[in-house]
Amino acid sequence: MKEVAAWVANASRVAFLTGAGISTESGIPDFRGPNGVWTKNPEAEKMSDISWYMNHREIRVKSWAARLVHPVWNARANGGHEAITALERLGRMHSLATQNIDGLHQLAGSSPDLVIELHGTMREVMCMSCGDRLPMEQALDRVRAGEDDPPCAKCRGILKSATVSFGQSLDPDVIERAHDDASNCDVYFAVGTSLGVYPAAALPEVALTNGARLVIVNEQPTPYDGLAHAVLRDKASSVLSDLVNEL
Ligand code: NAD
Repeated sequence: MKEVAAWVANASRVAFLTGAGISTESGIPDFRGPNGVWTKNPEAEKMSDISWYMNHREIRVKSWAARLVHPVWNARANGGHEAITALERLGRMHSLATQNIDGLHQLAGSSPDLVIELHGTMREVMCMSCGDRLPMEQALDRVRAGEDDPPCAKCRGILKSATVSFGQSLDPDVIERAHDDASNCDVYFAVGTSLGVYPAAALPEVALTNGARLVIVNEQPTPYDGLAHAVLRDKASSVLSDLVNEL
């Protein structure tokens, strides 16, 4: 940890990639960890797949029912998100790409301008036909009122959370920005991500190729551990709080 803190202290630019693992301590399960949504119920994967969602009404009905009771609505940022905000305040965090769709980095106080939401946000919905966007809460109110698969109020198209499902492409400008930041840093942190979802999972390699030190924070092994300069195998909140304390 002391060595990692020294790298951070002496870096011109520090970049982060976070995944579902930084939010498990806020009560939001990841997909592939030991208590992950898909680990426990592989069928749930269909709700995150665009062709299943678009072509099967029953999957959309299940998705809306799941959104209604999703733990994110009562979740609070945890020590991991807060430590990243502290690093920003110390001038030691220059880019924050996240695979998460929960908005907890912003709730923890990270500058919205700094957060790159690679997979979108579940705090908004989007019409798959006309592209209209509105707050998720408005759509959930309609579900609560009895619509089990509410269509777009403007064009009757299919509504979906404003997230990137499997089978959908990432916004090219968003991934390019994350790529540029990974190319231009001295230290790159991959926190709480299984590094199994591309193209986000390729970002640590971009950082390595451009000479950055790679630090992996994860309770479990990842495919990049052998390439990393440091692997801190513990809970994200405790590792990142320790890092802030060392600085
Ligand atoms: P993942 O589910 O594939 O992997 C999570 C990783 O975090 C695992 O390697 C696990 O070992 C690790 N982990 C779990 N708890 C941890 C903790 N407290 N400290 C340190 N490590 C911990 O997640 P992913 O790589 O982000 O990819 C999953 C996809 O699912 C992403 O596309 C993401 O958009 C989406 N997702 C998002 C959320 C969210 O927004 N909170 C939740 C579930 C899934």
